[in-house]
Amino acid sequence: MIVHLAGFNVERSRIPEADDCTPEVISAAYARISRSPKRVDHLRSEARREVDAARRSNKRILFGMGHASVAEHAVFNFDIIGISRYLAEFVQKSRLASFTEKSQRYVTLKGDFVLPQEIAGSSEEGEFRHLIDEQNRLYNRLIDAGTNLFQNEGMDARAASERAREDARYVLSLATETQMGATLNARSLERLLRRLGSLPLLEAGILREQMQDLAEHAAPSLIRYTDPDPYDQNRLVLNGEPPAPWAESVRLVGFTPNPDNVIISTSLIEDAGMDPIVAADLVSQWTNDQKVDAYETLFRGMTSHHPAPECFEFASLTFAVRMSSCCYAQYKRHRIASRIRSERTPTLGVVLPEWFGRTELSEQIDDVMDRCTDLWERLNTIQPLLGDYALTNAHAVQIVSRMNLREWYHFCRLRCDAHAQWEIRALADQMCEAIRAAAPLAGSRLMGKDAFEEYND
Ligand SMILES: Cc1cc2nc3c(=O)[nH]c(=O)nc-3n(C[C@H](O)[C@H](O)[C@H](O)COP(=O)(O)OP(=O)(O)OC[C@H]3O[C@@H](n4cnc5c(N)ncnc54)[C@H](O)[C@@H]3O)c2cc1C
Repeated sequence: MIVHLAGFNVERSRIPEADDCTPEVISAAYARISRSPKRVDHLRSEARREVDAARRSNKRILFGMGHASVAEHAVFNFDIIGISRYLAEFVQKSRLASFTEKSQRYVTLKGDFVLPQEIAGSSEEGEFRHLIDEQNRLYNRLIDAGTNLFQNEGMDARAASERAREDARYVLSLATETQMGATLNARSLERLLRRLGSLPLLEAGILREQMQDLAEHAAPSLIRYTDPDPYDQNRLVLNGEPPAPWAESVRLVGFTPNPDNVIISTSLIEDAGMDPIVAADLVSQWTNDQKVDAYETLFRGMTSHHPAPECFEFASLTFAVRMSSCCYAQYKRHRIASRIRSERTPTLGVVLPEWFGRTELSEQIDDVMDRCTDLWERLNTIQPLLGDYALTNAHAVQIVSRMNLREWYHFCRLRCDAHAQWEIRALADQMCEAIRAAAPLAGSRLMGKDAFEEYND
């Protein structure tokens, strides 16, 4: 066996401006593997020597033959600086990608925000700026008020100020500036560019143009279909009342019937090659004790770092969840999931930290939220979706979210843990309870990382 390190991503300033310094060489070499008898490292040398031919070959294989996965061998890293939180959310919807974003939880914000070009110079610019100023003032006042409150309740000064800061951000706008590192392969990037193109906001257009120019400069043969596709916009619309907040923040709305049995029978297929119907029938006749034994075997040696066994992927659970935009920013980072989010609208209400009501700032908070609603409506008359920049981290979103039980394990490990932010932790705790009720045996080790470590001791 021979293994070569064919490539890795290096920081941009280390990459020479030479034609053969392109990830297209790797894509071209790998694309040719399937039909060439030559060794792959030789194909790679060939592609490096003849970059133009490699580009032509990439285009033929990718766009002519539709072998799109070849583009996945080229990976880009983008520093994205000065983007609004609103657009950052949109970008991070990409699931086959990696993101790391400045945390509003750990960094004290200085009031920087994106002024969308549609608002600049419009009749609403003044109110937009005033509202954001007001939110930023409120943010700072909440940090002070919260720090005092928590200290009075016995917290030490540092913990009190950190807790106050992480919650004060709920009143900040989705126009707040952020920065992130984003890593995408060329195929995912092409899809993101198409999605950005379909968003009728100038900030999205600016980001799209910059990312596309940079990627096309580095790898012109790998990205082609970046125009928005009307097909992607198809959706069913009911012109009814504006949506109202769901009564419960977490509701289990569906799951694979009999998940405990499904997981065991899937595991039997893996071991014994048993017919799935025969395996399901066999397990349905087992006593509870036999099933408990089966799960003891499947969980044997599991630590808080182990994923649940692969057969857990055959049971899925779907939740309807209402949460703040702040919480959603964290929630949607779990990529191995199906998720549909309703459009943002102030009629869904807000989710605020409980302690805000124990400060003297309640009225000001209500006032700011009312002003957000007014401005949201007016901005949307300039341009659909523009109003979302006037909403805050507190404004609620409603989603349906489906994951397999293996991923719910991962989610609960991280989000039921003491390090998790309080809102997502409260949701995760409720989900954990609902999953355990639906799958008492398969869900028996579902808990936060800290609790699992204690359980294992
Ligand atoms: C306490 C806490 C603080 C955080 N702070 C920040 C922060 O400051 N900034 C920030 O940006 N994010 C932060 N996050 C989010 C975090 O970085 C992850 O994005 C998020 O928790 C999703 O989890 P995950 O990456 O493990 O994978 P998921 O997307 O949930 O995927 C599940 C599993 O699939 C596998 N997987 C998925 N995608 C890939 C891939 N591309 N390559 C390899 N394996 C993959 C991994 O095994 C992963 O564990 C924080 C999270 C927590 C819990």
